[in-house]
Amino acid sequence: PRSGFNSSNSTYYSKRKPLPLPQNHFLDVTTFISSHSHHGNVAFIDSATNRHFTFRQLWLAVDSVSSSLSSTGIRKGDVVLLLSPNSIYFPVVCLSVMSLGAIITTTNPLNTANEIAKQINDSKPVLAFTTSQLINKITASSPNLPIILIEENEELQQGGVIDTLHNLMKKEPSVNRVKERINQDDTATLLYSSGTTGPSKGVVSSHRNLISMVQIVQSRFKSDDLQTFICTVPMFHIYGLIAFATGILALGSTVVVLSKFDMHEMLFSIEKFRATYLPLVPPILVAMLNNAEAIRAKYDLSSLHSVLSGGAPLSKEVIEGFVEKYPNVSILQGYGLTESTGVGASTDSLEESRRYGTAGLLSPATEGKIVDPESGEELPVNRTGELWLRGPTIMKGYFSNAEATASTLDSQGWLKTGDLCYVDNDGFIFVVDRLKELIKYKGYQVPPAELEALLLTHPAILDAAVIPYPDREAGQIPFAYVVRKDESSLSENEVMDFIAKQVAPYKRIRRVAFTSSVPKNPSGKILRKDLIKLATSKL
Ligand code: AMP
Repeated sequence: PRSGFNSSNSTYYSKRKPLPLPQNHFLDVTTFISSHSHHGNVAFIDSATNRHFTFRQLWLAVDSVSSSLSSTGIRKGDVVLLLSPNSIYFPVVCLSVMSLGAIITTTNPLNTANEIAKQINDSKPVLAFTTSQLINKITASSPNLPIILIEENEELQQGGVIDTLHNLMKKEPSVNRVKERINQDDTATLLYSSGTTGPSKGVVSSHRNLISMVQIVQSRFKSDDLQTFICTVPMFHIYGLIAFATGILALGSTVVVLSKFDMHEMLFSIEKFRATYLPLVPPILVAMLNNAEAIRAKYDLSSLHSVLSGGAPLSKEVIEGFVEKYPNVSILQGYGLTESTGVGASTDSLEESRRYGTAGLLSPATEGKIVDPESGEELPVNRTGELWLRGPTIMKGYFSNAEATASTLDSQGWLKTGDLCYVDNDGFIFVVDRLKELIKYKGYQVPPAELEALLLTHPAILDAAVIPYPDREAGQIPFAYVVRKDESSLSENEVMDFIAKQVAPYKRIRRVAFTSSVPKNPSGKILRKDLIKLATSKL
């Protein structure tokens, strides 16, 4: 592919070194990663318990678990649900399932039983892996779904539990197991994202998508000497999944796993394990900036050389402030979507990051263009429009949703990101705003359509619209405009409580305004931009 900007067809080509994409059609992502063996190095270590896997132990565990899953009847194309906080066992489950050609679907452990039931109804898993703390969120809607518990020493008495992961890991792999041929185009993961509009949908990513992303991750990091990463970003999300359950494994680095985010635990782990890389979402970076003096006095962060930020925008001010407070640490940005199986653009060095505010250069093998959302016209450098991406990491489509797929992927394979961006003269992408309705609270997806549907079930609510509202700590918070029925005395707090009872904490509505009507276009679509303007006009 050519580099830079070609004015004849307005397509930007990646300036990075091309990827040596494997030509063999019959290849699955687990086989691809395990070919980088790394033997005795520690692959994963639990920050709290020091329990760990060397690479050798990891691949033995994956072999045993996949063999057992195969003998329980898991076959290519079957969907397996994984509901778990981060743990050193999370990658074992993902890699074992994918090695059989079965499909892994993950979900946020903070989600309610109802939210998880919706994902189960849509993806139809034949098996689930979860912990004893979370099992009720599955059995509430699906009492007959077979479950494998992830912890050690669990009694199998609990409803639905057929075995434990630890039992499976101890079993000798069967020599007679059924080995199905896996094509790179076969589906590997089904992660949920609301895309540009509507409720959450299953994003169908193939083995090829993941294999290319593993190569992109490999190309971003120093592979000459061994690195230690801290994993606090969620593994159920594409960010954690491609980094920690797949990509970084190919580097032979050590990953220190935190079961959930905790500032002290994270900083203490950097010191204890002499960590070099710290992948984060912007709100945590902001918190590190706000408490920089106290943090630097208390923790030895001298081993840390890079903080990676992704999943949501990071302002120029925060980057400048961070670089000043932590002069020995580089900030590397990554921009991407679940639909692009991770990183679509990134800055890979301090020098690139110094172009403050940029999301970076297009990932290797990735093409981009900027399209006027109104006219469909392709725009030249420095003009803002919707970013479209194309390349080997772009999803196959949305699961069982031809309509959503057709409006997001065009016939030539371009993904419409729903992000308003421009590209500068050197090919660096700047994310200016979000065209799509998605709200990101601390990096987590909040689909407004889901909250609006719930608001409309309230007997005193006539109409409602939910929009993002800027927040320094969370990035954005969900803000509801509500039209009350005549004579209703419904209060703002009552609206917030009504929603809080039904959704995961990160989806809560945190601000409410009452209005006489919700502005809509002639076909009934909410004019969100008008509401956002109104809501932020007083800022
Ligand atoms: P998700 O599918 O949850 O990863 O959400 C993808 C969306 O997050 C993108 O379409 C962007 O709107 C936003 N996003 C991710 N990374 C960045 C970034 N570095 N800068 C700005 N927005 C980002």
